[in-house]
Amino acid sequence: MNELLFPHEPTIRLGVFAGIFAVMALWELAAPRRHQKIGRLTRWPGNLGVVAVDTILVRLLFPTAAVGVALLAEARGWGLLALVPAPDWLAVLASVVLLDLAIYLQHRLFHAVPMFWRLHRMHHADLELDVTSGIRFHPVEIVLSMVIKLGVVAALGAPAVAVLVFEVLLNASSMFNHSNVRLPQSLDRVLRWVLVTPDMHRVHHSIVRRETDSNFGFNLPWWDRLFATYRAQPEAGHLGMTIGIPQFRDPGELRLDRMLLQPLRADDRATSDDHKPTN
Ligand SMILES: [Zn+2]
Ligand SMILES: [Zn+2]
Repeated sequence: MNELLFPHEPTIRLGVFAGIFAVMALWELAAPRRHQKIGRLTRWPGNLGVVAVDTILVRLLFPTAAVGVALLAEARGWGLLALVPAPDWLAVLASVVLLDLAIYLQHRLFHAVPMFWRLHRMHHADLELDVTSGIRFHPVEIVLSMVIKLGVVAALGAPAVAVLVFEVLLNASSMFNHSNVRLPQSLDRVLRWVLVTPDMHRVHHSIVRRETDSNFGFNLPWWDRLFATYRAQPEAGHLGMTIGIPQFRDPGELRLDRMLLQPLRADDRATSDDHKPTN
């Protein structure tokens, strides 16, 4: 399977990314969830600029990346899964689910540890949400996430195909659940049992701290329910809620250079009582 799949890896990644991006961007135009006060022209240059920086950096620092580590682990018999006799399909499924749990826990860590929050808060400083918010992460957060992921992949001994499936899924679901699309409420309710929906993740981007401290999941919604961080809706409603964090409200902060320097700015959560966790 590996010999068949991996020569096409870049095409698969780029194809899914471009396809989902285009579908979500058009869907947002056809059926927007919220009226956006700050439009694409103001937000997209910074958001897409940081994606370009992230992509170049990861290619330079991790030329073989997580799939490379998985292939190495497979060849050497590393990791927990090598100890458990299981059919290939089960090892792939278990790896995808466990990698998703790792990402959930990592997301909680990035909110809880002040040094990591300085990096992750750039993702939360977007003043509206759409498909580009789902790929708007600070380059240092991207590098740190990659190092953590390499460790998890090696420790699990995750099959390379599982790592590729997981990374492609995460990229696609992040663009989906950050998008500004309107889904019928009945569909949202059903989808939420298997997938993080845009309405579910939007709660996490609320300016209200107790709402930010909920719905950390990216792919599977189960971790939030299991670890009691699930919150169904924002108090002010999806149309009335304010998106972002109190610290960066000036639209000038949406410029690429400001975004990149945001981790160096003081942490106002550390000094202000209003934004301390409430649950
Ligand atoms: Zn977050
Ligand atoms: Zn988010």
